[in-house]
Amino acid sequence: MDVVAVVLIVVLFLLAIVFLIAREYFCWYWKINEMLGHLEGIHTALYNLERTNGAPESMERRLDANTEVCPFCMEPSLKERRVCDVCGKTKR
Ligand SMILES: [Zn+2]
Repeated sequence: MDVVAVVLIVVLFLLAIVFLIAREYFCWYWKINEMLGHLEGIHTALYNLERTNGAPESMERRLDANTEVCPFCMEPSLKERRVCDVCGKTKR
């Protein structure tokens, strides 16, 4: 094996180590692992909520032909009203 191949392998190895250290640094700096943990927690909580007949289904039951979900507070309110009954914002 000649010197060029050895140098190339060593350089690639060092670049891989620098990449892994930089990746770990940026994951720490931008709190990516922390956010991932929170997202997994939210996902688990939503899954459990859905499984135990939580908000989505009960909201579905409260909706009928005359009501719609407000895009701001996600509460059902009458379709004929332009302003949400709950949060007071204009729906359209
Ligand atoms: Zn609202």
